Amino acid sequence: MNKTKKIPVLERVAKINEQIADENRALLRANNLICINIMGSPGGGKTTLIENTIIRLQGEKKIAVIEGDLATTIDAERIMALGVDVLQINTGGMCHLDAPLIRNALKKMDLSSIDILFIENVGNLVCPSSHDLGEDYRVIIASVPEGPHKPKKYPVIYKEADVVVITKADLLEYFPDFTEKILFNHAKEIQPEILTFSVALKRNESMDEWINWVKSVKPKIRE
Ligand code: MG
Ligand code: ZN
Repeated sequence: MNKTKKIPVLERVAKINEQIADENRALLRANNLICINIMGSPGGGKTTLIENTIIRLQGEKKIAVIEGDLATTIDAERIMALGVDVLQINTGGMCHLDAPLIRNALKKMDLSSIDILFIENVGNLVCPSSHDLGEDYRVIIASVPEGPHKPKKYPVIYKEADVVVITKADLLEYFPDFTEKILFNHAKEIQPEILTFSVALKRNESMDEWINWVKSVKPKIRE
């Protein structure tokens, strides 16, 4: 088999994704909104973090959500119940979102009315990291039941992340091997600049630091 023939095709696909991501970024900038891509394992608390953030910022920030999901609208319905604009992307089995999918979603939204756009990526710790969507910030969710070693096991997604949020901190007492410090240290070994937050989603407690970051966040300056 001639392997060299395959490489140019993959490179071309990656390049197209990059170009469209830049177009998405320009469109978001033109509409003066911040886009935050939420990534993490299935069941880690991505939707719950977005829900709780919407509740906390009601009346302060106009939030909209793009929901990536393999097959269902379950998460989108949860967000919609809060009275927020949601655009659902069913990836039809594809395990990540890419820039063309986001471009199509952005075309259907009233971007000028939005302050903060959350993208809930497909639950997956591998390939979402290699697909720039045009977002400003990448947030990786690390839930307590997943254990403290995810940054070591999935370094690529941590290397590309701006923020790590520990979720389900309400469960810390049941997971004696997990401390916030261990996970944050692992994450910082991989990405020294990463911002760290820890939230107890079930009780909607300890959200203040995260909420303050979301409220104060500015468009990301890229080199
Ligand atoms: Mg979800
Ligand atoms: Zn994938």
